Amino acid sequence: MKKELKVVPIKDGTVIDHITGGQALNVLRILGINAKTDAVVSVVMNVRSEKMGRKDIVKVEDRELKPEEVDKIALIAPNATINIIRNFEVVEKHKVYLPEVIEGIMRCSNPNCISNSEREPVIPKFMTISVDPPRFRCFYCERIIEDVSGYI
Ligand SMILES: [Zn+2]
Repeated sequence: MKKELKVVPIKDGTVIDHITGGQALNVLRILGINAKTDAVVSVVMNVRSEKMGRKDIVKVEDRELKPEEVDKIALIAPNATINIIRNFEVVEKHKVYLPEVIEGIMRCSNPNCISNSEREPVIPKFMTISVDPPRFRCFYCERIIEDVSGYI
């Protein structure tokens, strides 16, 4: 008998699959899930994946994540898929979407950028120049950001 213990089904909630290997904890941070959360959350890291080499999976029980919440995940995990589960069935499945222009989600890594100015702050704005791996260019100072995990 083959037991698939890695991916135990959940009754209701959200399964985020195909997360770039090693990014699951950053995904939790983007979703605002931390030690204070009441949600039942399962994290599986470094699952072998034919397509991706290795991937992470996050399951959040009894919570259906909204598109505006999950699209932020695309900043670090562009291949992530979102599965909404109701009564053990996948009722919705979609890929995260990385917009061409990203406003107000992450900060610029350049401390001298006008978007980091305390006196005249402007809303940070980035152009997506590559989806996988994700790379962004600051609209104001043109700095390229490759690893956004520290700037979300
Ligand atoms: Zn900048």
